Amino acid sequence: MRDSYDLLVIGGGPGGAIAARTAATEGYSVLLVEKRPAIGAPVRCAEGIGKEALAEFVKPDERWISSEIKRAELVAPDGVSMMLESDMAGSKVGYILDRKFFDRELVWQAAEAGAEVMVKTRASAPVIQDGTVKGAVINFCGDRKKVHADLTIAADGVESKFTRWCGIDTTVPVREIMSSAQFLMTDIDIDPDTTVFYLGNKVAPEGYLWVFPKGERTANVGIGISGKKSGPGHRARDYLERFVADRFPHGKTIECMVGGVSVCRPLPETVADGLIVIGDAARVVDPLTGGGIYNAMFTGRMAVQVGTKALAAEDVSREALMDYDRGWRDSPMGKTIARNWHIKEKFITLSDAKLNAIIHSAKAIDLKDFSTISLIKEIMKRNPLLLADLAGLMASIG
Ligand SMILES: Cc1cc2nc3c(=O)[nH]c(=O)nc-3n(C[C@H](O)[C@H](O)[C@H](O)COP(=O)(O)OP(=O)(O)OC[C@H]3O[C@@H](n4cnc5c(N)ncnc54)[C@H](O)[C@@H]3O)c2cc1C
Repeated sequence: MRDSYDLLVIGGGPGGAIAARTAATEGYSVLLVEKRPAIGAPVRCAEGIGKEALAEFVKPDERWISSEIKRAELVAPDGVSMMLESDMAGSKVGYILDRKFFDRELVWQAAEAGAEVMVKTRASAPVIQDGTVKGAVINFCGDRKKVHADLTIAADGVESKFTRWCGIDTTVPVREIMSSAQFLMTDIDIDPDTTVFYLGNKVAPEGYLWVFPKGERTANVGIGISGKKSGPGHRARDYLERFVADRFPHGKTIECMVGGVSVCRPLPETVADGLIVIGDAARVVDPLTGGGIYNAMFTGRMAVQVGTKALAAEDVSREALMDYDRGWRDSPMGKTIARNWHIKEKFITLSDAKLNAIIHSAKAIDLKDFSTISLIKEIMKRNPLLLADLAGLMASIG
């Protein structure tokens, strides 16, 4: 390990890996540090990603793809369900990854491109000179060392402390943290080609429960509920256990995880002098779905595109790095996040009766003939009682 690099990337998730790979490919010296002993483990993710989204960054490979999905099923609170075939379901179908291997593959690619990678290495404080972030103090195997970098990228995920240490407020209101739990289950009866989303305040208050197949009889069965709805006896895990006991009584759980997903708006500002914040650390998760793998990779690549220009111009000031902040906000990804935040805010107010009515109506419509807006209009026509709710939704998605 050297004392000084062009770029220091903190965190070895998909965001950090793509940032490191992009910078190393362009010939910059890069150090990526990851606090966990192994890249990709433990997995805290349902592992779903759209096909096109994935292909933008890496060639699909069966070594880290668990299954290919053809359709999504939405189940209303009363049990009535509707199918979205792949041409309608868009980003909700695609692949279910095996992130233990996927995350490793991305970091391998970064290493092959020339990035130095250190695992079991935690960034414990920023190095700040004259108000500019200039690297980090890192701890590895009991040793502590200052590493200098001309540009630092915070890719340290939803619990990002580094960004806060650099003076950016990263607080997420409790109501906008999805409290999540997930079991990797096997020996269960599922359709291996279909992801299933269960809606309703009894199943998953202000959230949803998912079954993402990872094989013929194996799936990620998980749930996200609003942090404000979580409490003793009704935590995410309690809801999940009740669902599993009812739906998959003979299934076996071979992995179990709990975690949080931020479904708030992104950070008001994702740069500071010498620092760019990407992925979950920047809160660029889709607030409606909780999906953030693509967004992390997208912001990782853009951070380096802007950051390396700033390095070449020898100006890594906040002003120079603002092109990154504006860039992702103006991108289709940034616009989707802004729109989906409004939709999520509306969605969480819907009663079970209204969710039932929406799914019943949508089920009766040939979805292929409709855009999202025309579909909502059609549902409004069929359900005058939903007029006010759906008009609000229409206004938010423009
Ligand atoms: C239950 C659940 C289900 C999800 N399902 C999906 C899904 O189906 N599809 C989807 O697209 N997204 C999903 N997500 C979100 C997705 O997992 C994240 O958006 C994605 O992993 C973000 O990537 P990242 O690189 O920003 O952060 P992460 O993948 O979280 O990586 C951050 C890394 O930084 C490391 N780190 C943290 N602090 C330090 C430090 N001080 N020093 C060194 N290293 C540090 C961490 O150990 C971690 O490895 C889900 C999340 C959860 C919790």
